[in-house]
Amino acid sequence: MGFVNAISIFFIFDVLKIAGIMVEEGIARTIRNVIKSANRVAILTHTNPDGDAIGSSLALTLALRKKGIDAQVVIPDGLPDFLRWLPGIEHSTTFAYKRDQAVKIIEEADLIFCLDFNDPKRVNGVESYLQKSSAKKILIDHHQDPLQFTDITISETWRGSVGEMIYLFIQDVFEDEVMDKEIATCLYVAIMTDTGNFNYASSYPEIFHIVGDLLKYDIEKDRIYSNVYDAFSEDRMRLQGYCMQEKMVVLPQYHTAYISLTDEELKKFSHRKGDTEGFVNIPFSVKGVKFTALFVEKKDRIKASFRSRGEFPVNLVASKHYHGGGHINAAGGDSFDSMEETLAGFESLLPTYSKLLGDD
Ligand code: 5GP
Ligand code: MN
Repeated sequence: MGFVNAISIFFIFDVLKIAGIMVEEGIARTIRNVIKSANRVAILTHTNPDGDAIGSSLALTLALRKKGIDAQVVIPDGLPDFLRWLPGIEHSTTFAYKRDQAVKIIEEADLIFCLDFNDPKRVNGVESYLQKSSAKKILIDHHQDPLQFTDITISETWRGSVGEMIYLFIQDVFEDEVMDKEIATCLYVAIMTDTGNFNYASSYPEIFHIVGDLLKYDIEKDRIYSNVYDAFSEDRMRLQGYCMQEKMVVLPQYHTAYISLTDEELKKFSHRKGDTEGFVNIPFSVKGVKFTALFVEKKDRIKASFRSRGEFPVNLVASKHYHGGGHINAAGGDSFDSMEETLAGFESLLPTYSKLLGDD
């Protein structure tokens, strides 16, 4: 059975509303027809994009281009350095730096894919252009509770990455073989990064079947790892050391640890976009820590990132107290208080969650 047949899909195309319940093969066929009749495709992903966002978007772009379709990726803001080497990156445009070009791609598109986000707010300044566009829109995502802002919603919240979903989408929707080494490399980066190199969100056989298939296309697995994870600047490594030595606060009674970084501290280490990526996971190496947070000062807010191991739902913390959301084990949001107040506020929440954080 095909992937597109097996997932939860909501249609709001008028014709389909009239048709009533669609047979599952019809869904794949409809998507094929939508793609076939598209002249220009825009692929949009979330702000502050990660390996899954970029890897999935480029993989789908390369697959569409192989079929002769003009596809372009629009990234709302900064592409981190560790993803710049990916195949197909030349087909991406960053809205924050090349606004006119990015807007043109959205405006001229007759089909827009939204990848790896569940809420149009997650594309920042691009949101109004997305909503104004009369293009058909397809969401492919794995976040909880996707909002209905596209014509077709393909949502599988239990999957570790959108990369897997794009792999299955490509298999189902393109009638003949389009997979190649470049597409497989992008997909592997998406899957590897969103599972923390298979450390979490990957305890099911299918993900390894998918990866096994990607390896058949001669992807250079070890080199990919190195390109992504061994690409830090000296400043970034020293910032990490500083976080561990000076900034990590461990609260064993709550199985919690957090790190905070002010703008001044970031400047001291010549911070570049993406440098704090992964810092939120560092405290998990401390025995007993199940809940971690990273607070980073931005121009107008404090960006909060949360992670957990096991059952503790960090998306609940993010949505209830930080105007955010995410997955059960990885979520984020914002605080509009000062750093000091934010950290005090965070610590004051912990007693409320002590039961959920458990004793063992
Ligand atoms: P990160 O901590 O890496 O920025 O984000 C981890 C996950 O949390 C993301 O994949 C996303 O699902 C979610 N997330 C992060 N920031 C926000 C936010 O401001 N709003 C919402 N709704 N989700 C967020
Ligand atoms: Mn993802």
